[in-house]
Amino acid sequence: DAVVYWMRMGDLRITDNRALSLASAHAKKTDIPLVVVFILSPQDYKAHDRSPRRIDFTLRNLALLATSLGKLHIPLHIITQSNRRAIPNKVISFLEELSASAIYANIEYEVDELRRDTQISKAAQAKGIGAIFVHDKCVVEPGAVLTKENKTYSVYSPYQKAWLKKLNANIPYFLENCRQPHPNSESVRTTAKFGPLFDSLVPESVPGFELDPADRAKMEQVWPAGEAAASEMLRRFLRTKSRSSQLAAVDPLADGAEDSAKRSRISVYDAERDRADKDTTSRLSPYLSAGVISARACIRATMPDTKNAKVDGGRWIQEIAWRDFYVCILAGFPRVSMGRPFQEKYADIVWEGPALEGSYADELNPKAELSLATAESNIEKWKSGRTGYPIVDAGMRCLNEMGYMHNRLRMIAAMFLTKHLMIDWRIGEKYFMEKLIDGDLASNDGGWQWCASTGVDACPYFRVFNPYNQSSKADPTGDFIRHFVPELASVRGPDLHNPPAAAANKLGYPRPIVKHEESRDRALRRFKNVGSA
Ligand code: FAD
Repeated sequence: DAVVYWMRMGDLRITDNRALSLASAHAKKTDIPLVVVFILSPQDYKAHDRSPRRIDFTLRNLALLATSLGKLHIPLHIITQSNRRAIPNKVISFLEELSASAIYANIEYEVDELRRDTQISKAAQAKGIGAIFVHDKCVVEPGAVLTKENKTYSVYSPYQKAWLKKLNANIPYFLENCRQPHPNSESVRTTAKFGPLFDSLVPESVPGFELDPADRAKMEQVWPAGEAAASEMLRRFLRTKSRSSQLAAVDPLADGAEDSAKRSRISVYDAERDRADKDTTSRLSPYLSAGVISARACIRATMPDTKNAKVDGGRWIQEIAWRDFYVCILAGFPRVSMGRPFQEKYADIVWEGPALEGSYADELNPKAELSLATAESNIEKWKSGRTGYPIVDAGMRCLNEMGYMHNRLRMIAAMFLTKHLMIDWRIGEKYFMEKLIDGDLASNDGGWQWCASTGVDACPYFRVFNPYNQSSKADPTGDFIRHFVPELASVRGPDLHNPPAAAANKLGYPRPIVKHEESRDRALRRFKNVGSA
């Protein structure tokens, strides 16, 4: 007999993990062993455009988890199952092999995953095995705050107010600290049935998702794996403005600067969060996306005392609420995880380049103005950071190099692709997923659809960012652009944001591939005329 906890890509931690904690309590109460299983599925990762960096980060975390769980005499058993449709059967046969009495997991809200879990749940229950799927990803779970009409909120501000109120009224429930798993007895290691599970090795890489060694080494330094590393990242954000100078040496996004006033980064977050040239945000997104730290732990850490204090709802907490909001949208409107616009009227926008219709076809959108070759060349220039707009190019090169981009730059780059180049947001969304170490469907789709004006509570279509103005606000010192666009390293002052033709040609930097005003007008026309023949 055994109790199984199925660890997924989004909950790679031992502490403060609801499903693991419940599974452990069950095992302890019935005095049977707890087993942790993780299913690696290369086909699934392909289908979800997972980035090699995200997969590598997963494996690095799993390797540490195998050791920590091993110390508790809990096996971490890895199953590789390429055909993703076969996962339900694989899970059921694993449960049968162990004569398991129950399987626990944290809910994944994407449509494919919900369908898979429903299938597993039915099959398990038919065999008398308990299947318990619980909320864990959000601070306030989907469905816990609803509008007066009992509907999912589709506007962020009232959602955030209701979210904070609900949270503060139920702090023990929402911020409850799930205990560490109870250790198995030592003899589990030598039991014929369980012993071999301890020998299951975490692979170094997954075929098709290998990183080259230099990139892997860089990722290991910039984004170290493990719960302790995540807590340290959070601690630095809350307590001090400086990062270690050692990190600053390998990580161009860490400025390493000491703040003479000894202010914490969270205390200046509201004022400085949009600065891409400074190390102002927490950089916790890879850890939150992979669940190496829980969003609950992030909130708790901002509170002096979770027993008496209230969550303050400051700007940083509001970002955590954005994360919850997008998960609620994904759970409440399944079309967004199937590549559909949240605002369905925008399904008919005329995009340049390939016609998508649910797949990435190599055909020209029949109403497009540009040839397929021109649109594809624009897409390639955007991806590689050669649009001739320094802030867009610096952001995209940063994404390619670091697997990460500052929020403001994600907005600028996404708005540029969808409005200036009039390229379908799904192309950008897919590219981000393929590159980001923090790639997460709910936040990525939410962010892309916000920028494309097709999303929930999105940026209105007529508010097209001016990349030059955005550039001087996000990177006033120019340090960010100069680092990621070395062709412009010698340029100082306002020219850096919009290099004059002669200087750009001399330095070998491309001229803008489109004109701001013209492209803006085209975007406004397309959105205004949506649906008209
Ligand atoms: P901080 O500013 O320190 O914020 C703390 C945490 O709050 C973040 O780690 C994140 O979990 C959450 N958060 C912050 N801003 C947002 C937001 N706008 N939406 C949702 N959650 C937020 N975030 C991802 O985690 N994965 C993605 O794939 C992703 N794709 C995005 C794509 C686009 C086009 C845009 C505009 C935004 C995207 N974001 C995504 C949201 C945001 O850019 C990142 O979460 C943030 O930049 C991470 O940096 P940080 O950890 O320093 O954030």
